[in-house]
Amino acid sequence: MSSLLLAGGRVIDPANRRDDVADLLIRDGRIAAVGSQAGRQAGPDTRRIDVGGLVVAPGLIDIHVHLREPGETAKETIATGTQAAARGGFTTLVCMPNTTPAIDNPGTVALIQGKAEQHGVVNVYVAGAITKGIAGEELAPIGSLKQAGVVAITDDGHCVQNHELMRRALEYARMVDLPVMDHCQDYSLVSDGVMHEGYWSTLLGLRGWPATGEDLVVARNILLAELTGAHVHCQHLSTAGSVQLVREARKRGIPISGEACPHHFTLTDAAIAGSEKFWAADGQGVFGKASFPAPLPSWPVYDTNFKMNPPLRSAKDREAVLEGLADGTIEVLCSDHAPHCGYEKEVEFDYAPFGITGLETELALSLMQLYHAKRLALPEVVAKFTSAPARLLRLPKGSLSVGADADVTIFDPERDWIFRRADSVSKSKNSPFDGWPLKGRAVATIVQGTLLWSDESIRWLEATNPGPALVAK
Ligand SMILES: [Zn+2]
Repeated sequence: MSSLLLAGGRVIDPANRRDDVADLLIRDGRIAAVGSQAGRQAGPDTRRIDVGGLVVAPGLIDIHVHLREPGETAKETIATGTQAAARGGFTTLVCMPNTTPAIDNPGTVALIQGKAEQHGVVNVYVAGAITKGIAGEELAPIGSLKQAGVVAITDDGHCVQNHELMRRALEYARMVDLPVMDHCQDYSLVSDGVMHEGYWSTLLGLRGWPATGEDLVVARNILLAELTGAHVHCQHLSTAGSVQLVREARKRGIPISGEACPHHFTLTDAAIAGSEKFWAADGQGVFGKASFPAPLPSWPVYDTNFKMNPPLRSAKDREAVLEGLADGTIEVLCSDHAPHCGYEKEVEFDYAPFGITGLETELALSLMQLYHAKRLALPEVVAKFTSAPARLLRLPKGSLSVGADADVTIFDPERDWIFRRADSVSKSKNSPFDGWPLKGRAVATIVQGTLLWSDESIRWLEATNPGPALVAK
Protein backbone atom coordinates (compact mmCIF):
# COMPACT_ATOMS: atom_id res chain seq x y z
CA MET A 1 0.00 0.00 0.00
CA SER A 2 1.45 3.31 -1.01
CA SER A 3 -0.45 6.52 -0.67
CA LEU A 4 0.10 10.16 -1.46
CA LEU A 5 -2.00 13.16 -0.44
CA LEU A 6 -1.97 16.34 -2.51
CA ALA A 7 -3.14 18.89 0.01
CA GLY A 8 -4.95 22.13 -0.69
CA GLY A 9 -4.53 22.53 -4.44
CA ARG A 10 -6.99 23.97 -6.94
CA VAL A 11 -8.40 20.74 -8.34
CA ILE A 12 -9.52 21.24 -11.94
CA ASP A 13 -11.21 18.14 -13.34
CA PRO A 14 -13.30 19.10 -16.39
CA ALA A 15 -14.64 15.56 -16.88
CA ASN A 16 -16.35 15.83 -13.48
CA ARG A 17 -17.02 19.58 -13.74
CA ARG A 18 -14.89 20.17 -10.71
CA ASP A 19 -12.95 23.35 -9.99
CA ASP A 20 -12.35 24.01 -6.29
CA VAL A 21 -9.70 23.92 -3.62
CA ALA A 22 -9.56 20.34 -2.38
CA ASP A 23 -7.32 17.53 -1.22
CA LEU A 24 -6.68 14.58 -3.47
CA LEU A 25 -5.72 11.16 -2.13
CA ILE A 26 -3.92 8.59 -4.25
CA ARG A 27 -3.73 5.02 -3.06
CA ASP A 28 -2.18 2.04 -4.86
CA GLY A 29 -2.01 3.80 -8.17
CA ARG A 30 -5.62 4.99 -8.19
CA ILE A 31 -7.54 8.08 -7.19
CA ALA A 32 -8.92 7.16 -3.76
CA ALA A 33 -10.72 10.36 -2.75
CA VAL A 34 -11.12 14.01 -3.71
CA GLY A 35 -12.39 16.70 -1.35
CA SER A 36 -12.53 17.29 2.38
CA GLN A 37 -12.81 13.57 3.17
CA ALA A 38 -9.55 12.83 1.32
CA GLY A 39 -7.39 14.14 4.16
CA ARG A 40 -9.33 12.14 6.74
CA GLN A 41 -9.01 8.95 4.72
CA ALA A 42 -5.24 9.31 4.45
CA GLY A 43 -3.49 6.78 6.65
CA PRO A 44 -0.59 7.57 8.96
CA ASP A 45 1.94 6.39 6.39
CA THR A 46 0.63 8.71 3.69
CA ARG A 47 3.20 11.02 2.17
CA ARG A 48 1.85 14.54 1.81
CA ILE A 49 2.63 17.38 -0.58
CA ASP A 50 1.44 20.94 0.02
CA VAL A 51 0.05 22.01 -3.35
CA GLY A 52 -1.52 25.26 -2.13
CA GLY A 53 -1.51 27.83 -4.92
CA LEU A 54 -0.99 25.16 -7.58
CA VAL A 55 -3.39 23.47 -9.99
CA VAL A 56 -4.03 19.74 -9.62
CA ALA A 57 -5.30 18.40 -12.95
CA PRO A 58 -5.84 15.03 -14.55
CA GLY A 59 -2.58 13.93 -16.20
CA LEU A 60 -2.27 15.83 -19.47
CA ILE A 61 -2.70 13.94 -22.74
CA ASP A 62 -0.92 14.68 -26.03
CA ILE A 63 -2.45 12.76 -28.92
CA HIS A 64 0.07 13.87 -31.54
CA VAL A 65 3.66 12.87 -30.79
CA HIS A 66 6.46 11.40 -32.91
CA LEU A 67 8.52 9.08 -30.70
CA ARG A 68 10.64 7.95 -33.71
CA GLU A 69 10.74 4.27 -32.72
CA PRO A 70 11.30 2.06 -34.55
CA GLY A 71 14.00 3.19 -36.94
CA GLU A 72 15.01 6.72 -36.03
CA THR A 73 16.38 6.42 -32.53
CA ALA A 74 19.06 9.04 -33.24
CA LYS A 75 16.25 11.62 -33.11
CA GLU A 76 14.27 10.28 -30.14
CA THR A 77 13.46 7.07 -28.33
CA ILE A 78 10.45 5.96 -26.34
CA ALA A 79 12.58 6.49 -23.23
CA THR A 80 13.68 10.06 -24.01
CA GLY A 81 10.39 11.12 -25.57
CA THR A 82 8.37 9.97 -22.58
CA GLN A 83 10.85 11.66 -20.21
CA ALA A 84 10.35 14.92 -22.10
CA ALA A 85 6.60 14.36 -21.78
CA ALA A 86 6.85 13.93 -18.01
CA ARG A 87 8.85 17.17 -17.74
CA GLY A 88 6.21 18.96 -19.77
CA GLY A 89 3.40 17.68 -17.52
CA PHE A 90 2.15 14.92 -19.85
CA THR A 91 1.22 11.49 -18.56
CA THR A 92 -0.28 10.01 -21.73
CA LEU A 93 0.91 10.16 -25.34
CA VAL A 94 -0.37 8.85 -28.64
CA CYS A 95 2.55 8.12 -30.95
CA MET A 96 2.31 8.56 -34.71
CA PRO A 97 2.88 5.65 -37.11
CA ASN A 98 5.25 7.31 -39.62
CA THR A 99 8.24 5.43 -38.29
CA THR A 100 10.72 3.22 -40.18
CA PRO A 101 9.12 0.80 -40.82
CA ALA A 102 5.66 2.33 -40.47
CA ILE A 103 3.28 1.11 -37.77
CA ASP A 104 0.95 -0.55 -40.27
CA ASN A 105 0.65 -4.09 -38.89
CA PRO A 106 -0.07 -5.79 -35.55
CA GLY A 107 3.57 -6.91 -35.14
CA THR A 108 4.91 -3.38 -35.12
CA VAL A 109 2.11 -2.27 -32.79
CA ALA A 110 3.15 -5.02 -30.37
CA LEU A 111 6.78 -3.96 -30.67
CA ILE A 112 5.96 -0.37 -29.66
CA GLN A 113 3.68 -1.52 -26.85
CA GLY A 114 6.45 -3.77 -25.52
CA LYS A 115 9.07 -1.05 -25.69
CA ALA A 116 6.74 1.46 -24.08
CA GLU A 117 6.08 -0.99 -21.27
CA GLN A 118 9.82 -1.46 -20.77
CA HIS A 119 11.30 1.97 -21.40
CA GLY A 120 8.43 4.45 -21.38
CA VAL A 121 7.86 6.45 -18.21
CA VAL A 122 4.38 7.69 -19.20
CA ASN A 123 1.43 5.92 -20.83
CA VAL A 124 1.91 5.39 -24.56
CA TYR A 125 -0.95 4.59 -26.91
CA VAL A 126 -0.29 3.76 -30.54
CA ALA A 127 -1.86 5.17 -33.69
CA GLY A 128 -1.73 2.83 -36.67
CA ALA A 129 -1.37 3.73 -40.33
CA ILE A 130 -4.30 4.11 -42.71
CA THR A 131 -2.33 2.69 -45.64
CA LYS A 132 0.47 0.15 -45.94
CA GLY A 133 3.83 1.84 -45.51
CA ILE A 134 1.96 5.18 -45.33
CA ALA A 135 2.29 5.07 -49.10
CA GLY A 136 -1.32 6.04 -49.74
CA GLU A 137 -1.90 3.18 -52.17
CA GLU A 138 -3.33 0.20 -50.31
CA LEU A 139 -5.26 0.02 -47.05
CA ALA A 140 -3.46 -1.27 -43.96
CA PRO A 141 -5.21 -4.16 -42.14
CA ILE A 142 -7.46 -1.84 -40.15
CA GLY A 143 -9.37 -4.56 -38.29
CA SER A 144 -6.16 -6.29 -37.18
CA LEU A 145 -4.68 -2.96 -36.10
CA LYS A 146 -7.74 -2.34 -33.96
CA GLN A 147 -7.39 -5.81 -32.41
CA ALA A 148 -3.73 -5.07 -31.72
CA GLY A 149 -4.82 -2.07 -29.68
CA VAL A 150 -4.32 1.05 -31.80
CA VAL A 151 -6.51 3.93 -30.66
CA ALA A 152 -6.80 5.59 -34.07
CA ILE A 153 -5.45 5.40 -37.60
CA THR A 154 -3.64 8.15 -39.50
CA ASP A 155 -1.04 8.49 -42.24
CA ASP A 156 0.31 11.56 -40.41
CA GLY A 157 3.28 13.17 -42.07
CA HIS A 158 1.48 12.17 -45.23
CA CYS A 159 -2.09 12.46 -46.41
CA VAL A 160 -4.19 9.93 -48.33
CA GLN A 161 -4.69 11.68 -51.67
CA ASN A 162 -7.00 9.14 -53.29
CA HIS A 163 -10.54 10.01 -52.16
CA GLU A 164 -11.92 6.56 -52.93
CA LEU A 165 -9.23 4.96 -50.76
CA MET A 166 -10.00 7.42 -47.96
CA ARG A 167 -13.68 6.62 -48.27
CA ARG A 168 -12.96 2.88 -47.88
CA ALA A 169 -10.68 3.59 -44.91
CA LEU A 170 -13.51 5.52 -43.23
CA GLU A 171 -15.99 2.74 -43.91
CA TYR A 172 -13.69 0.09 -42.41
CA ALA A 173 -12.80 2.32 -39.48
CA ARG A 174 -16.47 2.88 -38.77
CA MET A 175 -17.13 -0.86 -38.92
CA VAL A 176 -14.49 -1.55 -36.27
CA ASP A 177 -15.26 1.66 -34.36
CA LEU A 178 -11.88 3.32 -34.75
CA PRO A 179 -11.36 7.10 -35.04
CA VAL A 180 -9.56 8.31 -38.16
CA MET A 181 -7.13 11.22 -37.93
CA ASP A 182 -5.82 13.04 -40.96
CA HIS A 183 -2.90 15.33 -41.77
CA CYS A 184 -4.82 17.49 -44.22
CA GLN A 185 -2.79 18.39 -47.27
CA ASP A 186 -3.43 18.37 -51.00
CA TYR A 187 -0.17 17.39 -52.68
CA SER A 188 -0.97 18.95 -56.03
CA LEU A 189 -1.24 22.39 -54.42
CA VAL A 190 1.52 22.00 -51.86
CA SER A 191 4.05 20.41 -54.27
CA ASP A 192 7.58 21.30 -53.16
CA GLY A 193 6.75 24.25 -50.91
CA VAL A 194 8.83 24.79 -47.79
CA MET A 195 6.79 27.52 -46.07
CA HIS A 196 3.41 29.24 -46.17
CA GLU A 197 2.71 30.98 -49.49
CA GLY A 198 2.36 34.71 -48.93
CA TYR A 199 4.20 37.98 -48.48
CA TRP A 200 7.14 36.46 -46.58
CA SER A 201 7.72 33.52 -48.95
CA THR A 202 7.88 35.99 -51.81
CA LEU A 203 10.23 38.29 -49.94
CA LEU A 204 12.49 35.45 -48.79
CA GLY A 205 12.55 33.69 -52.15
CA LEU A 206 11.30 30.41 -50.69
CA ARG A 207 8.77 28.17 -52.41
CA GLY A 208 5.41 28.59 -50.74
CA TRP A 209 2.37 26.41 -50.31
CA PRO A 210 -1.00 27.99 -50.04
CA ALA A 211 -3.46 27.67 -47.16
CA THR A 212 -5.87 26.25 -49.73
CA GLY A 213 -3.77 23.06 -49.78
CA GLU A 214 -5.04 22.36 -46.27
CA ASP A 215 -8.57 23.75 -46.73
CA LEU A 216 -9.25 21.44 -49.68
CA VAL A 217 -8.54 18.25 -47.74
CA VAL A 218 -10.45 19.45 -44.68
CA ALA A 219 -13.42 20.01 -47.01
CA ARG A 220 -12.87 16.55 -48.50
CA ASN A 221 -12.87 15.01 -45.03
CA ILE A 222 -16.09 16.80 -44.10
CA LEU A 223 -17.80 15.45 -47.22
CA LEU A 224 -16.53 11.92 -46.63
CA ALA A 225 -17.48 12.02 -42.94
CA GLU A 226 -20.97 13.00 -44.03
CA LEU A 227 -21.07 10.25 -46.66
CA THR A 228 -19.77 7.44 -44.45
CA GLY A 229 -20.86 8.54 -40.97
CA ALA A 230 -17.31 7.93 -39.75
CA HIS A 231 -15.62 10.43 -37.45
CA VAL A 232 -12.66 12.28 -38.94
CA HIS A 233 -10.27 14.22 -36.73
CA CYS A 234 -8.27 16.86 -38.63
CA GLN A 235 -4.77 17.12 -37.24
CA HIS A 236 -2.87 20.36 -36.56
CA LEU A 237 -5.29 22.84 -38.15
CA SER A 238 -3.34 25.91 -39.27
CA THR A 239 -5.51 27.95 -41.64
CA ALA A 240 -8.45 30.34 -41.26
CA GLY A 241 -10.26 28.48 -44.03
CA SER A 242 -10.03 25.06 -42.44
CA VAL A 243 -11.15 26.37 -39.03
CA GLN A 244 -14.20 27.94 -40.66
CA LEU A 245 -15.00 24.74 -42.59
CA VAL A 246 -14.83 22.64 -39.42
CA ARG A 247 -16.96 25.18 -37.54
CA GLU A 248 -19.72 25.12 -40.14
CA ALA A 249 -19.64 21.33 -40.49
CA ARG A 250 -19.90 20.79 -36.74
CA LYS A 251 -22.92 23.09 -36.68
CA ARG A 252 -24.53 20.80 -39.25
CA GLY A 253 -23.78 17.79 -37.04
CA ILE A 254 -21.05 16.25 -39.20
CA PRO A 255 -18.74 13.96 -37.17
CA ILE A 256 -15.62 16.08 -37.62
CA SER A 257 -13.14 17.55 -35.13
CA GLY A 258 -9.82 19.33 -35.02
CA GLU A 259 -6.71 19.99 -32.99
CA ALA A 260 -4.22 22.86 -32.82
CA CYS A 261 -0.54 23.16 -31.91
CA PRO A 262 0.99 26.06 -29.92
CA HIS A 263 3.47 27.05 -32.64
CA HIS A 264 0.59 27.69 -35.05
CA PHE A 265 -1.21 29.98 -32.63
CA THR A 266 1.92 31.72 -31.28
CA LEU A 267 4.15 32.26 -34.31
CA THR A 268 3.59 33.35 -37.90
CA ASP A 269 5.46 32.98 -41.18
CA ALA A 270 7.21 36.30 -40.46
CA ALA A 271 9.37 34.36 -37.99
CA ILE A 272 11.26 32.81 -40.92
CA ALA A 273 12.48 36.31 -41.79
CA GLY A 274 14.21 36.42 -38.39
CA SER A 275 13.29 37.64 -34.93
CA GLU A 276 13.50 41.38 -35.66
CA LYS A 277 11.00 41.11 -38.49
CA PHE A 278 8.72 38.85 -36.44
CA TRP A 279 8.60 41.12 -33.38
CA ALA A 280 8.00 44.16 -35.59
CA ALA A 281 5.36 42.53 -37.79
CA ASP A 282 3.39 39.94 -35.78
CA GLY A 283 5.02 39.67 -32.36
CA GLN A 284 2.75 42.11 -30.52
CA GLY A 285 0.44 40.28 -28.19
CA VAL A 286 2.56 37.15 -27.85
CA PHE A 287 3.52 38.13 -24.31
CA GLY A 288 0.15 39.58 -23.46
CA LYS A 289 -0.49 43.14 -22.40
CA ALA A 290 2.77 43.35 -20.52
CA SER A 291 5.59 45.11 -22.29
CA PHE A 292 8.01 43.05 -24.28
CA PRO A 293 10.54 41.21 -22.16
CA ALA A 294 14.11 42.38 -22.38
CA PRO A 295 16.02 40.96 -24.02
CA LEU A 296 13.58 39.65 -26.61
CA PRO A 297 14.28 36.15 -27.89
CA SER A 298 16.30 36.39 -31.08
CA TRP A 299 17.00 34.10 -34.01
CA PRO A 300 18.38 34.52 -37.53
CA VAL A 301 16.58 34.66 -40.86
CA TYR A 302 15.98 31.22 -42.44
CA ASP A 303 16.21 29.47 -39.06
CA THR A 304 15.19 25.87 -39.79
CA ASN A 305 13.71 25.49 -36.29
CA PHE A 306 10.79 27.45 -37.72
CA LYS A 307 10.21 24.94 -40.52
CA MET A 308 7.36 22.56 -39.92
CA ASN A 309 4.44 20.91 -41.71
CA PRO A 310 1.88 22.44 -41.83
CA PRO A 311 3.93 25.63 -41.93
CA LEU A 312 3.63 28.75 -39.80
CA ARG A 313 0.86 30.75 -41.40
CA SER A 314 -0.17 34.41 -41.59
CA ALA A 315 -1.28 36.52 -38.62
CA LYS A 316 -4.85 36.19 -39.90
CA ASP A 317 -4.62 32.40 -39.81
CA ARG A 318 -3.07 32.48 -36.34
CA GLU A 319 -5.98 34.60 -35.10
CA ALA A 320 -8.50 32.22 -36.69
CA VAL A 321 -6.95 29.22 -34.92
CA LEU A 322 -7.13 31.11 -31.61
CA GLU A 323 -10.77 31.96 -32.29
CA GLY A 324 -11.47 28.33 -33.16
CA LEU A 325 -9.97 27.27 -29.83
CA ALA A 326 -11.91 29.95 -27.98
CA ASP A 327 -15.33 29.11 -29.44
CA GLY A 328 -14.90 25.34 -29.11
CA THR A 329 -14.53 24.55 -32.81
CA ILE A 330 -11.10 23.11 -31.97
CA GLU A 331 -11.37 20.85 -28.94
CA VAL A 332 -7.90 19.40 -28.61
CA LEU A 333 -4.45 20.87 -27.96
CA CYS A 334 -1.35 18.87 -28.91
CA SER A 335 2.30 19.40 -29.75
CA ASP A 336 3.10 17.52 -32.98
CA HIS A 337 6.41 16.90 -31.17
CA ALA A 338 8.70 16.07 -34.11
CA PRO A 339 12.33 15.67 -33.07
CA HIS A 340 15.18 15.87 -35.62
CA CYS A 341 18.95 15.63 -35.15
CA GLY A 342 20.98 18.83 -35.09
CA TYR A 343 22.91 17.92 -38.24
CA GLU A 344 19.67 17.34 -40.14
CA LYS A 345 18.40 20.83 -39.31
CA GLU A 346 21.78 22.55 -39.84
CA VAL A 347 21.35 22.80 -43.60
CA GLU A 348 19.82 25.27 -46.03
CA PHE A 349 16.12 25.96 -45.31
CA ASP A 350 15.06 24.08 -48.46
CA TYR A 351 16.78 20.88 -47.37
CA ALA A 352 15.90 20.77 -43.67
CA PRO A 353 13.27 18.28 -42.51
CA PHE A 354 9.90 19.59 -41.30
CA GLY A 355 9.13 19.54 -37.59
CA ILE A 356 9.94 20.89 -34.14
CA THR A 357 9.96 19.53 -30.60
CA GLY A 358 7.12 20.64 -28.35
CA LEU A 359 6.40 18.47 -25.31
CA GLU A 360 8.19 20.73 -22.84
CA THR A 361 6.80 24.06 -24.08
CA GLU A 362 3.21 23.31 -25.13
CA LEU A 363 1.56 23.76 -21.73
CA ALA A 364 3.16 27.18 -21.15
CA LEU A 365 2.50 28.46 -24.67
CA SER A 366 -1.12 27.31 -24.50
CA LEU A 367 -1.63 28.97 -21.12
CA MET A 368 -0.08 32.18 -22.44
CA GLN A 369 -2.12 32.46 -25.63
CA LEU A 370 -5.39 31.10 -24.24
CA TYR A 371 -5.58 31.62 -20.48
CA HIS A 372 -3.31 34.58 -19.80
CA ALA A 373 -4.57 36.26 -22.99
CA LYS A 374 -8.11 35.86 -21.54
CA ARG A 375 -9.47 33.84 -24.42
CA LEU A 376 -10.36 30.84 -22.24
CA ALA A 377 -10.81 30.09 -18.55
CA LEU A 378 -8.28 27.76 -16.97
CA PRO A 379 -10.64 24.71 -16.83
CA GLU A 380 -11.35 25.14 -20.55
CA VAL A 381 -7.63 24.97 -21.35
CA VAL A 382 -7.24 21.93 -19.08
CA ALA A 383 -10.18 20.24 -20.85
CA LYS A 384 -8.42 20.51 -24.21
CA PHE A 385 -5.47 18.59 -22.73
CA THR A 386 -7.51 16.01 -20.77
CA SER A 387 -11.21 15.22 -21.13
CA ALA A 388 -11.47 16.25 -24.80
CA PRO A 389 -8.64 14.08 -26.20
CA ALA A 390 -9.71 11.19 -23.92
CA ARG A 391 -13.27 11.41 -25.24
CA LEU A 392 -12.11 11.67 -28.86
CA LEU A 393 -9.94 8.53 -28.74
CA ARG A 394 -11.94 6.81 -25.97
CA LEU A 395 -8.92 6.58 -23.68
CA PRO A 396 -9.62 5.50 -20.08
CA LYS A 397 -7.76 8.64 -18.98
CA GLY A 398 -8.25 12.36 -18.52
CA SER A 399 -10.28 12.49 -15.29
CA LEU A 400 -9.77 12.48 -11.53
CA SER A 401 -12.76 10.22 -10.87
CA VAL A 402 -12.45 8.03 -7.80
CA GLY A 403 -11.12 4.66 -8.95
CA ALA A 404 -9.43 6.05 -12.06
CA ASP A 405 -5.71 5.60 -12.72
CA ALA A 406 -3.87 8.16 -10.62
CA ASP A 407 -2.37 10.12 -13.50
CA VAL A 408 -2.05 13.65 -12.19
CA THR A 409 -0.33 16.82 -13.35
CA ILE A 410 0.46 19.55 -10.85
CA PHE A 411 1.21 22.89 -12.49
CA ASP A 412 1.70 26.51 -11.62
CA PRO A 413 -0.14 28.64 -14.18
CA GLU A 414 1.68 31.79 -13.04
CA ARG A 415 5.25 30.50 -12.97
CA ASP A 416 7.68 32.61 -15.02
CA TRP A 417 10.55 30.68 -16.52
CA ILE A 418 12.82 30.66 -19.52
CA PHE A 419 12.92 27.68 -21.84
CA ARG A 420 16.44 26.67 -22.92
CA ARG A 421 16.59 23.95 -25.52
CA ALA A 422 19.96 22.86 -24.12
CA ASP A 423 18.11 21.87 -20.92
CA SER A 424 15.52 19.80 -22.79
CA VAL A 425 15.45 16.10 -21.98
CA SER A 426 14.28 15.24 -25.47
CA LYS A 427 17.06 13.68 -27.53
CA SER A 428 16.63 16.47 -30.08
CA LYS A 429 16.83 20.21 -29.57
CA ASN A 430 14.93 21.55 -32.59
CA SER A 431 12.68 24.00 -30.78
CA PRO A 432 12.04 27.54 -32.05
CA PHE A 433 11.36 28.73 -28.49
CA ASP A 434 14.96 28.76 -27.23
CA GLY A 435 15.44 31.55 -24.71
CA TRP A 436 11.74 32.42 -24.59
CA PRO A 437 10.30 33.76 -21.36
CA LEU A 438 7.25 31.58 -20.69
CA LYS A 439 4.45 31.72 -18.15
CA GLY A 440 3.03 28.55 -16.62
CA ARG A 441 4.84 25.32 -15.91
CA ALA A 442 4.31 21.76 -14.70
CA VAL A 443 5.92 21.22 -11.30
CA ALA A 444 5.14 17.52 -10.81
CA THR A 445 3.93 14.61 -12.91
CA ILE A 446 2.34 11.54 -11.36
CA VAL A 447 1.70 8.40 -13.41
CA GLN A 448 -0.41 5.62 -11.94
CA GLY A 449 0.33 6.86 -8.46
CA THR A 450 4.09 7.19 -8.90
CA LEU A 451 5.62 10.63 -8.59
CA LEU A 452 7.59 10.49 -11.78
CA TRP A 453 9.09 13.90 -11.83
CA SER A 454 8.91 17.05 -9.76
CA ASP A 455 10.89 20.26 -9.78
CA GLU A 456 12.76 21.75 -6.84
CA SER A 457 9.78 23.84 -5.72
CA ILE A 458 7.69 20.90 -4.49
CA ARG A 459 6.83 21.26 -0.77
CA TRP A 460 6.75 17.99 1.18
CA LEU A 461 4.78 18.08 4.40
CA GLU A 462 6.07 16.34 7.49
CA ALA A 463 5.01 12.70 7.36
CA THR A 464 2.18 11.97 9.76
CA ASN A 465 3.86 8.92 11.22
CA PRO A 466 5.51 10.78 14.11
CA GLY A 467 9.25 10.36 14.23
CA PRO A 468 11.21 11.02 17.46
CA ALA A 469 11.51 14.76 16.80
CA LEU A 470 7.78 15.19 16.42
CA VAL A 471 7.08 13.18 19.53
CA ALA A 472 9.46 15.43 21.49
CA LYS A 473 7.37 18.45 20.48
ZN1 LIG B 1 1.23 15.90 -39.36
